[in-house]
Amino acid sequence: MSLKGKTAVITGSNSGIGLGVAHELARAGADVVINSFTDTPEDHALADALAKSHAVSVRYIQADMSKPDQCRALIEQAGACDILVNNAGIQHVAPIDEFPIEKWDAIIAINLSSAFHTTAVALPMMRDAGWGRVINIASAHGLTASPFKSAYIAAKHGVVGLSKTTALETAREAITCNAICPGYVLTPLVEAQIPDTAKKYDMSEEEVTQKVILERQPSKEFATVEQIGGTAVFLCSDAAAQITGTTISVDGGWTAL
Ligand code: NAD
Repeated sequence: MSLKGKTAVITGSNSGIGLGVAHELARAGADVVINSFTDTPEDHALADALAKSHAVSVRYIQADMSKPDQCRALIEQAGACDILVNNAGIQHVAPIDEFPIEKWDAIIAINLSSAFHTTAVALPMMRDAGWGRVINIASAHGLTASPFKSAYIAAKHGVVGLSKTTALETAREAITCNAICPGYVLTPLVEAQIPDTAKKYDMSEEEVTQKVILERQPSKEFATVEQIGGTAVFLCSDAAAQITGTTISVDGGWTAL
């Protein structure tokens, strides 16, 4: 399928799943805006490399997704937004009674509220264009819970709810909104959790990866960023035009348990 002529904005996309989604949407022909809160030569080089490998236009726009005005400015600066992928996310692991308040606030702001702000600005653009796709990267943790991840799980359940409401408000238009719910994908976000989890369970990092991290994932394999990107491309296809307000799990069977 071709997404030529469409512009995709992907939040938090200089790494991991966001970058993988950017690659797959660009491979399908979309022009792409990638984003993070940094503004380094590497960020712009990433945009140039993406443009070169897929022969599409790619811009890097700095915007901090913890700040409502910057979330909104990202979409305004993009100028067009046919496909919005709300992907930016962070994690912090601690029991509720020890959970730092500033970490709770940051996770809710970046993982949940940013999607509200970007969607609010993107929907009028999609309506003007007569077509749109909002794809929220939630998580298996948007459908199930685990201990010590209260803010992340609250935010991801919130993203699933926001996706349903967005779908209902756009149901009579050629706009859809869905949440992709990945299980574990080996990205910097997950890699960063391995040492702490290993310490908590008194295991080696290799053992904790197989026995604890992938314990919930029946396939015993990490999902890949290409698979998440491919799912996003599918949601942009005509075949997915009546898929709205739902979740698509890419989790090796986790939520079937
Ligand atoms: P990652 O750490 O590789 O990427 C996170 C991205 O968000 C980075 O590009 C980072 O720069 C960006 N980001 C962080 N704070 C930001 C801010 N304030 N403003 C703008 N950008 C910001 O992690 P990832 O694993 O690729 O995670 C991407 C998304 O996928 C997250 O929403 C995460 O919750 C979700 N997810 C990941 C997994 C997994 O196993 N990796 C599973 C389910 C869901």
